[in-house]
Amino acid sequence: MTTMSMKKGVQPVLTMILVLLVAAAPLFMSPSNVQLFIFWGINILLAQSINLLSGLGGQISLGHAAFYAIGAYVSAIFMVRFGFPLYVTILLSAAVNALVGFLVSFPAGRVREFYLAMMTLGFGFVIEEIIKEWSSVTGGVMGLSGIPSPKLGTMLLFGIKLNLIHYYWIVFLVVALIVWMLRNFVQSYYGRSFLAIHRSELSASSIGISPGRVKQLAYTMSACLAGIAGALYAHLMAYIGANSFGMMQSIEILVMGILGGFGTIIGPILGAGFLTFIANKLQFIKDYQLMIYSLLLVISFLFIPRGFAGLLGIRTALSKEKRLQKVKPISEVKPLRIPGREARTLSCSPHHKVLKVEGVIKDFGGLRALQHVSLELGQGTILGLVGPNGSGKSTLVNVISGVYPVTEGKISFGKAEITNMPTHAIAGQGIIRTFQDPHNVGNMTVKENLLLGKHQKYQSGIVSCVLNLKSSLLEEQEMLVKVHEMMELCSLAQYSEELVENLPYGVQRMVEVARAILAEPELLLLDEPAAGLSEHEMQELSKLIRYVKTLGISVILIDHHMEFLMGLIDEVIVLDSGKMIYSGDAQGMQTNQQVIEAYLGVANHA
Ligand code: ADP
Ligand code: MG
Repeated sequence: MTTMSMKKGVQPVLTMILVLLVAAAPLFMSPSNVQLFIFWGINILLAQSINLLSGLGGQISLGHAAFYAIGAYVSAIFMVRFGFPLYVTILLSAAVNALVGFLVSFPAGRVREFYLAMMTLGFGFVIEEIIKEWSSVTGGVMGLSGIPSPKLGTMLLFGIKLNLIHYYWIVFLVVALIVWMLRNFVQSYYGRSFLAIHRSELSASSIGISPGRVKQLAYTMSACLAGIAGALYAHLMAYIGANSFGMMQSIEILVMGILGGFGTIIGPILGAGFLTFIANKLQFIKDYQLMIYSLLLVISFLFIPRGFAGLLGIRTALSKEKRLQKVKPISEVKPLRIPGREARTLSCSPHHKVLKVEGVIKDFGGLRALQHVSLELGQGTILGLVGPNGSGKSTLVNVISGVYPVTEGKISFGKAEITNMPTHAIAGQGIIRTFQDPHNVGNMTVKENLLLGKHQKYQSGIVSCVLNLKSSLLEEQEMLVKVHEMMELCSLAQYSEELVENLPYGVQRMVEVARAILAEPELLLLDEPAAGLSEHEMQELSKLIRYVKTLGISVILIDHHMEFLMGLIDEVIVLDSGKMIYSGDAQGMQTNQQVIEAYLGVANHA
């Protein structure tokens, strides 16, 4: 038996023992300690809720206790007024909160940073005020009492009078289930899209991730989790009042997440534990709570920016590769080349125009960066785009990819007009671009970044990903095969598990280009991909671009290295001060007087 399979055999046994220990623990504890552990469970949900929204999705929330409050009140009210059982009221809390979160995502999704902080702060206050003022429903400032509670033995479930230990088991089950689902989520293409949006909306959009969709999902899920926490809290306490859900609680939620370690699954569990148990010991300095929390935040930011999880060197993997061995060995899965590509390459014709740019003007204030630029690009053609610095090359790529709106003119791709469409929608049409300075997700590994390139090709639904259904695992497997193939092709395999931000510039560039190719574009826009590459890396890149061409993908290639370009391009366009001064084949360009004066003279000299 190999160590590997031995480990596999041992793991479920260990998990079993752990579960039994945790389940048996309350039998040997005082009621106050049992309650403390229940609080830990509730706090884990809160910390995971903020982790999902801020840690993963990058959306600040300073009023998170509002979601917690809504969950608590919904569950309490439905049980007190209508006598609904616990499992129904928890689900109702989750559903109502999901709806509220979804609605909040629309205004919140439109603002960033400071404004988002202010907006969420305001949201927290508004909900707090509504609770205080809407006394006929919420009990107003007097709060809501008489909530059926296991602590008082006033709650029935399936005819059983619940006690605190039962409640501990319920909370434990709910938390375990949710943490498991969250881990599955984080390790799916959904989780990766959250982190991509967090790092750079622009770069995420460029591979087809919709920032709006991600934010809707982030707010919906995060609110839903906080709602479940609220429901569990209300029934533990038997009484709830607006004071439990104020600013202080919002800060506490943030501290748990940040101190524990945003972006991981273990971190928020640790952060929640720390605050639950330490705060309890510090009851006597409750007056200084806000001060202590602030201090904790400062300390965390200064000394352990990645929280306890960072301190312990824990990082949550963002793919299910480790789990996939159980599904099917990678080698057994048929390597999937870009589907349909081979067939298309045969019928691919440069006469078939994929991209049409017609009379595009782009003004930046008084500066006209593009002046009536028109071009047509044939299928499977590599078009070089050259010109002196500041001549508008990047701007052209930016308007084609929807990063900037055009001032005038029309851009069509295939049969569709794409002028001024949002970047992610243009990527959805099959135009993928890279940036002059590489835009990868620095805190993801090379493999995870490349998986991001596949984002648009995933079809599994969120339920399937969260429950690790076989179809979603197989899909992830398929994508991983392609990613591994690509890593081989671009000599990236050795860096597979390394964080991109730690890698040399040349490798980062290759990662971005490889990620773009994995997106299976129809048109690839490469903005100075060879800048800063070594001679050897440039050859690798040439090889890669040639490979792309054999797949029938059209390419617009910006670069200054004439030798590099000449070996690759079919046609070339020269820009000077936003004007197209040459369009034709590469040989013609080299003898064109205007081009020599405006660009080549300078380039050769350089
Ligand atoms: P290139 O890529 O050919 O070096 P760019 O397309 O980046 O040139 O820039 C073309 C001109 O447009 C330059 O004068 C540049 O300063 C200007 N420009 C580019 N982007 C912006 C922007 N976001 N705001 C204002 N001016 C810009
Ligand atoms: Mg540029």
